[in-house]
Amino acid sequence: MPRSSAVHFSHFLPSLLLLLAGLAAAYVKDLNVFFTSLFNVLPTLVLLLGGAYCAVYRRQRELFLMVTVYIAYFLLDTQTDYYRDNGRVREDAAVVFHLCCLLLPLLFGLFAAWQERTHLFQDMVARFAVLLAFGSVALGLEQSYPQALLNWLAEIRWPALHGSWMSLIQLSYPVFFAAFLLLAIQYWRSPRPLHAAQLVGLLGLFWMLPKTFILPFTLNIMCSQVMLMIAAAVAHEAYQMAFRDELTGLPGRRALNERMQRLGRNYVLAMTDVDHFKKFNDTHGHDVGDQVLRLVASKLSKVTGGGRAYRYGGEEFAVVFAGKTLDECMPHLEMIREIIATYNIQLRNQDNRPQDDQQGRQRRGVAAASSVSVTISIGVAERLAEHRTPEEVLKAADQALYSAKGAGRNCVMAFGQNRRGAVRMDAAAG
Ligand code: GH3
Ligand code: MG
Ligand code: MG
Repeated sequence: MPRSSAVHFSHFLPSLLLLLAGLAAAYVKDLNVFFTSLFNVLPTLVLLLGGAYCAVYRRQRELFLMVTVYIAYFLLDTQTDYYRDNGRVREDAAVVFHLCCLLLPLLFGLFAAWQERTHLFQDMVARFAVLLAFGSVALGLEQSYPQALLNWLAEIRWPALHGSWMSLIQLSYPVFFAAFLLLAIQYWRSPRPLHAAQLVGLLGLFWMLPKTFILPFTLNIMCSQVMLMIAAAVAHEAYQMAFRDELTGLPGRRALNERMQRLGRNYVLAMTDVDHFKKFNDTHGHDVGDQVLRLVASKLSKVTGGGRAYRYGGEEFAVVFAGKTLDECMPHLEMIREIIATYNIQLRNQDNRPQDDQQGRQRRGVAAASSVSVTISIGVAERLAEHRTPEEVLKAADQALYSAKGAGRNCVMAFGQNRRGAVRMDAAAG
């Protein structure tokens, strides 16, 4: 399964918080003038700011999602304003509302699942054409055959499936369901903050529509929140691009530099390097090398003792222990070194998959032979009088790493420690 990274709760968190804030705000009764004025301008403000933000990052998909939500907001807001001012709905309210219930999930699902593949300008033209086509057909039908369209939309096609709880037209439910399924599959195949935001956003719209005429400002609030979810996801992904290493998922060099500026007075830095990795790459190929780097990163990310791992570059990783002393960190580094050294990595050979079970059983012996292992060397330094800045401490850790390589690799060496003093697990155990 082509999964680039794991499913993360953090992908959903900003959107869920926005959703909850939207739900809470929608239920507040007797809003004062400040909030009513705010909610009246909020969707337009969010569209302008979020749209400009998406345009700067050249994110057409997100831009069109926002525009879709905004068009629905605009159409329905005209109706709710009329309803609020006159105490009754406008004569075209039903057909406009039902059209929105059908087209909003349809277009939201379509634009959300439509990946940006072609040239930027072609992509924009294609999306615009789709929006225009749906819009003009809907408008044409609504103007020419309002009653026939209303009947078609409101028809109960599947009486057996109709529940009294259904406050939207029946057609709307399968469209919402199909869009939700599509976006859930998309997130599962490619877990990204944007894909998570789209899922939560769709839920928000699903909740919003039945309440449009019931709770005042539900429309303004939820449309703003959904557009904000999308803008926040763009920001989240931009942050990840800048600070996360794509291959391993660990924070990268830039994140390390940032962290090093606010380490306080006591800290320990460790530099780790995979042993003989060039030879490993030469023997097993670069792809297997990448697989192993991902695995080493995943093990390092679980280092105990409060350490945080960063990919420094290539096959080198840095581990930061803030507020710790060298003695406190050594056992944890030693443990992680041993965990990596004793881990048998099963190589996934996609081209070599057995055709059937029997073949698979026969090959199991061969499969066992395709397990490999790697070791890492670690150099550690703590902040001392002679190296005060984080850069100096990192340099000291690098020198210690050099000593660890000289001491035969697969060991942890502290700055200033000599070869014979290298801490080796086997020696410590013996
Ligand atoms: P030593 O034990 O002294 O560290 O030996 P080494 O071969 O690991 O040392 P060296 O630094 O010379 O080699 C690092 C190698 O790591 C070179 C390069 O092929 C490999 N490498 C660096 N980045 C990546 C990467 O992102 N993916 C893969 N597959 N290999 C990488
Ligand atoms: Mg190296
Ligand atoms: Mg190396």
